[in-house]
Amino acid sequence: MRVCKVCGAEVKRNFPTHAQGVRHRNAKRLTRWIADESISFAEMSRRLNVSRERVRQLAEQIPKAEKGRERQRKAALRRAQAAVTRPDRPGFPIVKELEARRIAWRPFRLGNTYQFSEKLLRLGSPPRLTCSLQRYCKKLEGYYNINKATNEVCDFYLFVGPAGVLIFPHEVRPRGQTTFLLNETRKAKGVPGARHDWKNYLNAWNLIEERLKQTRGKAS
Ligand SMILES: [Zn+2]
Repeated sequence: MRVCKVCGAEVKRNFPTHAQGVRHRNAKRLTRWIADESISFAEMSRRLNVSRERVRQLAEQIPKAEKGRERQRKAALRRAQAAVTRPDRPGFPIVKELEARRIAWRPFRLGNTYQFSEKLLRLGSPPRLTCSLQRYCKKLEGYYNINKATNEVCDFYLFVGPAGVLIFPHEVRPRGQTTFLLNETRKAKGVPGARHDWKNYLNAWNLIEERLKQTRGKAS
């Protein structure tokens, strides 16, 4: 007696006979559908004419099929990836640049849930840097503004805006609302305590690339 690799049932008679059984055939179809991530469990239940719970039970029995939880986690990850890369989100230009530089990214996973943040990314393969995604805007001629800086503790803080992407390591991140200049030839008049090093962080992708190199083999 052996266990069928497709449906997980014991093969009591010869295999061709077993393969014609309902359980084996359904398992085969389910395995195919589960691999095709566009088909929902609800749709599978309709096609097999059984309840959704039954589909879940059947999926649990199939040795090769992805289990419900894993499927759920992947679906949540895909939704978050789609949200991060929507053209109206700050993540859109960042992800394009990361992909051009072959830096692996994924949305940050929140705790032990199937939820992922759309405002935080994990970078590297394996993932080892956390980045926040935010915006800055143009204020007056030459001046830019960050409305609010995140409180999350990240390795890098990325701000997308009209002049490019500002990339700050944790130590030098802006805190709270702030106005700044990106043109070094102008003096930040009337902006007490304004920093003049902002342009050093404009499109400073090398900072992320260097940190990834330094932490290679040290997944956190
Ligand atoms: Zn079978």
